[in-house]
Amino acid sequence: MPQLIVVSAPSGAGKTTICRRLVEKVGGLAYSVSYTTRKPRPKEKEGVDYFFCDRPRFDAMIEAGEFLEWAEVFGNYYGTSRQWVFKQLENGLDVLVDIEIAGARQIKNTFPEAVFIFIVPPTFEELVHRLELRGTEGESELRQRLEQARTEIEAHKMYDYLVINDDLDRAVQDLVTVVQAERLRLPKSDQFWRRFF
Ligand code: ADP
Ligand code: 5GP
Repeated sequence: MPQLIVVSAPSGAGKTTICRRLVEKVGGLAYSVSYTTRKPRPKEKEGVDYFFCDRPRFDAMIEAGEFLEWAEVFGNYYGTSRQWVFKQLENGLDVLVDIEIAGARQIKNTFPEAVFIFIVPPTFEELVHRLELRGTEGESELRQRLEQARTEIEAHKMYDYLVINDDLDRAVQDLVTVVQAERLRLPKSDQFWRRFF
């Protein structure tokens, strides 16, 4: 059975970097590109990193029930396309969604069989360091992200797996292992056995 894999991490933990590498390494895994009202960062591309849209369009999509989940993060809106995700699953692909905790909680309520992975840097200090080094946020936005990170880390208990992003290659390999192990899980539906006999 194709799986929905939810990855969350405090901003700056390395989630984007790891997820991109994971998709390159593991076949049959489709990365969900979210919609956001946030402005693109210098290297970000439309349709690759996000679908960038304005608030009226985002609101219309909420209204039309187009999001599997959505959340407001740091004053911007982010959402996952319901139709896209289900289409991939129907086509037999596993789907990777990279979302924050409030969105993950919505998926846990509507799609409890999804797999939940939480990524953290080795220490909080390292998180501060990475965000400063990335340099994509101003001082006040950076503080806001660190504040939020503390809250998110404290709420990690709903996740199934914890991956520590110390050495990047190691963290990617840990995620590969999780995906492979999940693919070997005893099927949750009878479909496999019906086909077997
Ligand atoms: P997120 O998507 O979780 O906000 P990013 O993937 O943008 O985080 O990573 C934040 C910064 O940390 C980036 O500059 C990235 O290159 C760097 N980074 C990611 N993983 C590691 C690691 N294991 N060691 C050192 N730096 C890392
Ligand atoms: P960033 O602005 O750094 O790209 O993302 C900020 C936060 O929003 C990250 O924690 C990221 O995982 C989260 N995010 C990205 N897309 C979505 C989405 O579609 N839904 C939700 N709930 N969060 C998202």
